[in-house]
Amino acid sequence: MFEFSSIDHYHSWLKEEKGSCVQAVQHYLDRISATRHLNAFIEIYTSEALAKAGDLDARRLAGEPMGKLHGVVIGIKDVICYKDHRISASSKILPEYISVYSATAVERLLREDAIIIGNLNCDEFAMGSTNENSAYGPVLNAIDNTRIPGGSSGGSAVAVQAGLCMVSLGSDTGGSVRQPADLCGIIGLKPTYGRISRYGLIAYASSFDQIGIFGTNISDIGLALEVMAGPDDFDSTVSTEPVEEYSKAAPARKYRIAYLDSAINHPALDPEIASAINGTIEKLRNNGHTVDAVPFDLIDHIVPAYYILTTAEASSNLSRFDGIKYGFRANDPEDLTDLYKRTRSEGFGKEVKRRIMLGTFVLSSGYYDAYFTRAQKVRKLLYNQIQLIFNNYDFIVLPNTPSTAFRLGEKMEDPIAMYLADIYTVTANLVGIPAISIPLFRHSNGLPFGLQVMANEFKELSLLTVSQDLLNNQQIQ
Ligand code: GLN
Repeated sequence: MFEFSSIDHYHSWLKEEKGSCVQAVQHYLDRISATRHLNAFIEIYTSEALAKAGDLDARRLAGEPMGKLHGVVIGIKDVICYKDHRISASSKILPEYISVYSATAVERLLREDAIIIGNLNCDEFAMGSTNENSAYGPVLNAIDNTRIPGGSSGGSAVAVQAGLCMVSLGSDTGGSVRQPADLCGIIGLKPTYGRISRYGLIAYASSFDQIGIFGTNISDIGLALEVMAGPDDFDSTVSTEPVEEYSKAAPARKYRIAYLDSAINHPALDPEIASAINGTIEKLRNNGHTVDAVPFDLIDHIVPAYYILTTAEASSNLSRFDGIKYGFRANDPEDLTDLYKRTRSEGFGKEVKRRIMLGTFVLSSGYYDAYFTRAQKVRKLLYNQIQLIFNNYDFIVLPNTPSTAFRLGEKMEDPIAMYLADIYTVTANLVGIPAISIPLFRHSNGLPFGLQVMANEFKELSLLTVSQDLLNNQQIQ
């Protein structure tokens, strides 16, 4: 029988010849077909995955060395390119587009013998918090099928939550890995900006976007990060900071932890979430860590700044989808302007159009200084404030989301309410620091939620170490 608790465990199982990669892949394919109603996958690469598994089995049995991700079954969000496979950003504007190259992250996974099992549903162009903005329809939360899994990487979260793959990739521009991980009760890591190459990731807001990882345990996430991180000739924004052995935890020590008073006492936060996080703060204190409240006066400015800057970047990034270069083109245009207009009106969904218009507006000459320049100032102030905190503390703890998973359709008619729910996740992207969502709690309504921990730039190793400590000390209650 195939069983999986971690990649390490899976590898021992293979080495002891208790089973094969083919059996593992078959197990996931069976689970995927049994859970089609969740709508997590867009396409499943059945024959390719089985063939690759067979090849890996033969090579392993012939005594060839195993890659770090030998036979590890991975799903990827539909915004990450995989050569010769369809990619659509869950949009009607890219109906039959086939990637002509693989993202650097994917290349590196494959180089270590990972098996990509399929691509995963998401909000169109990674814009959203519920996965309801997808041209393929919503993804359902496996814990309660009447509820959203979060977004935009909803398919990637549910694929891990429902045991449809071992780890998955998402992208996090303002919380799209941490928020769905939180609402699905799994782990989600957004690395430092520039830790993993964005080459081959369809751009939403380039100065915010980062590929992130979903998993069920810290060592798997560390291993996937270790494989993907590091400089890349195809992306000049990737850092040359040395890649550490993220899968090997650093020695535990006493930490200095800050929490933001205004975040925990925010009126939008579900009181049960606030009290769970306060409980964790108390426990950390009792365990000998230094934990202090720090003032933070920018809390109500960060969501507006995020939406101004990301929509501005998106309006520019998405101008390439014009009916000429890629994908969908409207029928029988009268002239070039009509071709552009109708292609984009018919091809993009409502939320994407809303953001392109908002972004174009905030960049327009009359309003540029009033919105875009001011939002950039907020970003800079925020960066400075957060850096000041990290002068004295190792981590900042806060919630991931103000509430547990809401019902399908509940917030669709109120985009502002939806945007405000990003209050706890956008800071890490505005500042470029790593952050993780750790599943520690269960609400009295039966739904999971987690704790978010942020660390300073390139401190992924200590972030993963403290996450492991937290998981060891406080299993889901
Ligand atoms: N919910 C946020 C948004 O809609 C985050 C998206 C993301 O991280 N891709 O912009």
